[in-house]
Amino acid sequence: MSESAVGEAPRRVDIAIIGGGLVGASLGCALAPLIRRLGLTVAVIEAAPLSTDLEAPWQPSFDARASAIAQGSVHHFVELALWPALAEQAAPIRCIHVSEQGRLGATRLRAAELDSEALGQVIPNAWLGRVLHRRLGELPLDWHCPARVETIQPVAGGHRLRLSDGACLEAGLTVLADGGRSGLKERLGIESRERSYEQVALIATVAVDRPHGGTAFERFTTAGPIALLPLREQAMELVWTHQAGREHARMALADGDFLAQLQAAFGDRAGRFRRVGRRHAYPLSLVTAQETTRPGLAVLGNAAHALHPVAGQGFNLALRGVMDLVAAIQAGADRAESPGSSATLADFEARRAGDRHNVIRFSDGLVRLFGLDSPVLSHARAAGLVGLNLVGPLRRTLARRAMGVER
Ligand SMILES: Cc1cc2nc3c(=O)[nH]c(=O)nc-3n(C[C@H](O)[C@H](O)[C@H](O)COP(=O)(O)OP(=O)(O)OC[C@H]3O[C@@H](n4cnc5c(N)ncnc54)[C@H](O)[C@@H]3O)c2cc1C
Repeated sequence: MSESAVGEAPRRVDIAIIGGGLVGASLGCALAPLIRRLGLTVAVIEAAPLSTDLEAPWQPSFDARASAIAQGSVHHFVELALWPALAEQAAPIRCIHVSEQGRLGATRLRAAELDSEALGQVIPNAWLGRVLHRRLGELPLDWHCPARVETIQPVAGGHRLRLSDGACLEAGLTVLADGGRSGLKERLGIESRERSYEQVALIATVAVDRPHGGTAFERFTTAGPIALLPLREQAMELVWTHQAGREHARMALADGDFLAQLQAAFGDRAGRFRRVGRRHAYPLSLVTAQETTRPGLAVLGNAAHALHPVAGQGFNLALRGVMDLVAAIQAGADRAESPGSSATLADFEARRAGDRHNVIRFSDGLVRLFGLDSPVLSHARAAGLVGLNLVGPLRRTLARRAMGVER
């Protein structure tokens, strides 16, 4: 925990990670080889208190949120030796079924067509967090939790951070992985472009009356997309997008009425919905930071880009950012550059720019294409969906992108 109290000289670290959420914790774990090889000193600061009993038996919760992890991300977790633990609670996606309400067009993207066992995996967020934090606990890190970074100030050779636990750190490289909600980015004068989708995602776990066989469903309706991701056993993660304001009535429905409305909107393609867990609502916007690097600073994860969850790309994109940052730090060290040097961060930016741009455009394009109720667009959409089923290479491109193996 904290080693420097108020009034003491700041403690110098090579890298300070602000936020130990999915992205900050992944970065901490991915830095392990560099901590060992290069002797880097790393601090992770996380505001939310974490369960200290990481060894307690795991009780899968019917209410847990889950993330679709592309096959490319699975490869990264294999590389980080985290996959065996993550796999314990993962469910494979073997097929993606895409359809549109009121249209005949539908397409299926199958892992087998790509000679792969799965297009991706669905993992409860709580399990992801637990596995990442357990690994962080095994590493020689300066771990401040619960502690909030209250101020950040550029100084010669990096940034000075004041923490709510009284510690003061000076970091050569500060990584902002705070999800973009702490106000630190704004205080540094980094502007973000924000466009509200005027939509709210309603998330819940639902139980179905038949095995899903590893199928993930994406159904586009005039009010917004509905996604169902396979979980272990006969449960699925529902992401039901609503026009902003319309979610309130659905949040308030009794479970039976909610399930009946979901059945009416989704049809029987996944079977009969039998049970629903606690519902959560997330307002959706596209947020992109206008700068993702400065000397001594990198912005990662939701702090850099918050996307519509329609294509399940946010964390996958962020994890590639984590891996590229670690690669740039390693390459910089080979040239005797520090992690926060302009050259190291320019290398990182060069590795990231294309992927980030493509994924943001892809996710935003899907929302725009399927979110509007224009007759011309509707025909184009139906033709597009049928066309996707007919045109093998295009469908394969979409599947490869869903798998995170094509940028
Ligand atoms: C409805 C929905 C469904 C999604 N589904 C998927 C999916 O299926 N697949 C996918 O790839 N992506 C998905 N995403 C995106 C994914 O959830 C995000 O990309 C991911 O959570 C971003 O993680 P993060 O660590 O950047 O931010 P966060 O998860 O917000 O974590 C930030 C952390 O920083 C801490 N923090 C904040 N301020 C401070 C401070 N001042 N000091 C210290 N710590 C601080 C917070 O406590 C928090 O733990 C989805 C998103 C939504 C909204």
